[in-house]
Parts: sequence; structure tokens; C-alpha cells
Amino acid sequence: MGDQIGMVDRISELPDFIIHHIMSYLSTKEVAQTCVLSKRWNHLRTSFPILDFDQIYFRGDLAERNMYTFSVREKRRFCKFIGYVDASLLRFCELKFSMQKFRLSMSLFDVEGVTSFLDKWIELAVANEVQELDFNVEVNGGSRYSLPATIFSAKLVTTLKLSGCNLEQSSDTIRFHSLKKLALHRVHIGEQMVHKFISECPSLEDLILSRIGDFKRVCVSHAPKLKTVTIDECFELESIEIVAPSLQQCTLAYIRKSCLIDMAGCPHLNSLKLVEVDIEIHDLISKIPLLEKLIIQNCDEITEFEFSSNRLKDLQILRCYNMDGIVVDAPNLLSFSLECRDVPFCFSINGSRQCSCKLKFLIKLDTEGDILILTWFNIIKEEFLGVVHQVKELRMSINIMTPLDSFSLDEFRNRSPSLPREVENLIIDVWNIRNIPPSKYVALLDCSLWVCFPRILSIELKRSCFPLISIDCLELKRRKQSIEFIKFFYEMMINRDTKCCNSHIIKCWRHYLKDFKIDSFVPYKDPKPLHVDNLIAELPGLPDGTIRFHLDWCFSLHIDEAYVTGPSLLNRSSMLI
Ligand SMILES: [Zn+2]
Repeated sequence: MGDQIGMVDRISELPDFIIHHIMSYLSTKEVAQTCVLSKRWNHLRTSFPILDFDQIYFRGDLAERNMYTFSVREKRRFCKFIGYVDASLLRFCELKFSMQKFRLSMSLFDVEGVTSFLDKWIELAVANEVQELDFNVEVNGGSRYSLPATIFSAKLVTTLKLSGCNLEQSSDTIRFHSLKKLALHRVHIGEQMVHKFISECPSLEDLILSRIGDFKRVCVSHAPKLKTVTIDECFELESIEIVAPSLQQCTLAYIRKSCLIDMAGCPHLNSLKLVEVDIEIHDLISKIPLLEKLIIQNCDEITEFEFSSNRLKDLQILRCYNMDGIVVDAPNLLSFSLECRDVPFCFSINGSRQCSCKLKFLIKLDTEGDILILTWFNIIKEEFLGVVHQVKELRMSINIMTPLDSFSLDEFRNRSPSLPREVENLIIDVWNIRNIPPSKYVALLDCSLWVCFPRILSIELKRSCFPLISIDCLELKRRKQSIEFIKFFYEMMINRDTKCCNSHIIKCWRHYLKDFKIDSFVPYKDPKPLHVDNLIAELPGLPDGTIRFHLDWCFSLHIDEAYVTGPSLLNRSSMLI
């Protein structure tokens, strides 16, 4: 009892600005929950200068919702949301504090009846010197919401994110002198108005134009501080011309073949990301002399990539499914990522000796499985791992449609009689192995570990990459297969015996593996690893994620010594158990 009297409520004694600072790290829901801490925390919630309103917290579940109209319940919830935003804003504005952020995210069927509230809220935010304005109003039917001219009076705004609304042409000068970030997503806005924004906001550093229709030309000039530009899904674009002396990063996504791109006026551009573009990329990148980071993603039109650069440090070629050849000469390359379905026909990477690689391949076999799977493993081992330096991550997604019969390690050993490569992390993602009988799991594992010796071996435990189709029996089968494979793998590791490989100089993985233990389980939704005591018992109850095993091999030669120099095989074979 005495102790309780002596207890001091220290968190309620904190100064106002510290409590607000703590709140700034919390989600809107968590901020609302702080009211239970004390009267003071509840009171300080009113003066918290970050006003974040998301209709999602006022929605019913999916079953209650209709695509086209509001149900009576939904309508009631919607009115409650409007009332909550209105009351909270008015309460805050009465205090006459300046507003750090105002975020509104809502969707409605018609703006009628709501326009006056939206206009009033923008007016209140502007009057309270809002610094960050994030306004997302999606109208599913009826007419769009047109932003009021008051918005142009937000002199102190540093970040302006608009989504789903109309922004009418303004003849007045835009006075966003402090504006650093402008993001327009699905905003109905004329070309001239965008150009006006760019040329009349001298502090602009970050520009995002996304899904803006009937928009033919982007011309960026008079933007001395502009550092990053993103142009995404503006399908009607015919030309992009950027003259920005400070520009460092640019992302172009979903750009048509006919679109003309001129970035010659960006001498400091060093990072370029291209997603689903049909343009001639070689021509574009050859005009960017300081390019250090290049990401090419989902560009199915590109069949060959040949590039030579002394500046390039980071190259990522991701999901370009028709890529047949990759030839890169970049002696300072430090990081290379490749994600493909079919193994490229021609592959050569000349990077730095410190270059670390992340490789992701999908083994998808639907004909002549036995021969192809061995060829596939062989190509990965000899043509990929054999020509790159440090492999940080190798992911093999296995999707085998054809029943496999004679597939075995011995055949693979004959084709590729060298020791496996050392890699940091091997991820085995069992997509579909129902055509591999469990008796062939051994061959699958043996071949995988004939390709490489991983320090960490991760096996994915998941349903499907299509989370929306949650009650699909295929997903359950896939999870069942993953569980079976993990159980098999665990048993193999625990009960490994080394009575095999007697007549061979180079033995299989069993003879080199010194120790094996479960490293962790990492759920997809929460990157915090979970400790697993009893894997087999806990497996069915685990959420989707990755099980990581730590493998300790009985030798640790540096990768270069092992493969660049010839006699390393003998050195290694002398260390056999
Ligand atoms: Zn063996």
C-alpha cells in the first residue's frame, strides 16, 4: 500500500512537447488509445498538431460494403466519420496552434453534401499554417471533388500530396515558396498547371506525378533544387523533358514506346529506375554519364542488356521475363540483383571483387522434367555462380509440373564435377512439388546442395502469392507441400549419415556439414524473428514466413581461392570427413 502511495506518474509529468513528440511515433489509433493513460494525455491529444483522419477506421467489414451504394449502416458510419473530423479540426483550431500535418483519406459515392465540409477543412488547415497537407478524396461515382482556390494560400506548406480530386487552372501566381514535395496521384489537372507548379515553387525537391490521364507532355525546367522525379502510369505521355541541374534520382514507370525522353539537362542524375517501360533504354542510359544505380523492372520488351560503365555501383534487373542476354562490364559494381524466370542464354558480369549478388530464379518445368532440371541446376552453378564473386542470396523458386522419374544426384555430379559454391543465404521456395514424389526430395535437396553450400538455408512456408484468394484449395496444398518439405529437410539434417559417395573424390554435402541448427522463423507480417523450440510440432501453427537454418560447414575457404585457383579441389577433398 505504502509503495502505491509513493508511486509517481512520471509519464504524465513530461512536458507537452515531449508527449507530442512521443505521439508523433504512434499510429492514429494508438494516439487515440493514449487517452487511457491519464487526463493530461487525453487533454494533450486535442492539441497534437498532427491531424490524421482515415475513413478506414470507421468502415464496417467487407461483407457489409457495396461497390456502388452505401448501406444504411455504412451511411451512419460515414456521417460519424465526417462529424469526428469536423469536431476534431474545430477543437484544434480553437487553440490557435500551427498545424504540422493534416491528412485526410476517404472515399465516397458523391461529393454532394460533403463539398462544404471539405472546403471548410482545407480553409481551417490553411488558416492554421499547415505544413504538410495530404488530401486523398476518392469519388467512386458522380462528380469529383474540386479543390478550393484557398489551397493556393497555404504559404507555409512544405509537403503537398493530392489524390483523387480536381485542381482547376489558376491564373494567380502560386505562392508555395516553402514547398519541397509535391505528389499528385489521380488528380485531374492540366499540363499548364503542372508546369506552373514546377516553375513557381523554387524550393521544390521531390516531384511525383502518378496516374494523371490526358497529359501529353511533362516539361520540367526552372527547378533549381529538384532532386527526385517520379512519373508513374501517365499512359498518354508523348514526351518527357527534364532540365534540372540538381536532379539525382528519377523513376519512370509504365511509359509507352513512342514517348520521347530527354534528360540531357540532368548532369547529376545518378539513380534511375525503369518499370514497365517500352522505350529504348540503352539510348537513354548512355546519356547519363554519372549513373551509379540502375533498376530495370518488369520490362518485358527488353531481350538483351549490354552495358559498360566505370561509375555503375548497383544494378538490379528484376522480373524482365524475356531477357535472353546480360553482358555488363562495370569494374566498380558493388551490388547486382537478378530476378528471372528463364535463365538468360548469355550472361557475363564483370564487377568489383567485392560485388555481392542476389539471384532469384524460378524453376518452372512442364516438359522433359528430368533432363531440364539437371540442366537448370548446372547452368545456375556453372554459368551464374561460377562468374560472380560473392553471392549474398540465391533464391530458387521450384515449380515442377512434370512428374520426375530418374532425376538423381549422380547424373548431376557427372555433369558438374566441381565443389559447390559458397553462398550466404539460399532460399528454397517450394511453389509446386506435387509432381516430385517424396522419394525424390532427397535428389532435389542433394542437387540444391551440389550447387552451393549456404551459411543460411531458408525455406519459405506460405500459401500463395495471391493473398486475395484465401480459400483456395491450391493454396492449402502449397502450404501442405511446404510443410512436408520442411519436415523432410529437418529429418535429413538431423539424421544425416555419411555412408554414401565412397568411390567419389568430391563427396556430397553430408560429408562437409559440421553443424546444423534452427536459426529463426521470420513471419512475413512482422520482420521480428520468432524463436522456435520444437519445429516439427509448431510447424502447422506457424504463420506464413521463412524458416532459417544455420549450416556450419567444415571448411571455410574464401570463394576466390576456391574457384579462381585450380588446385583448390584437391585442397578441399583433403578435408573430407
Ligand atoms: Zn555422400
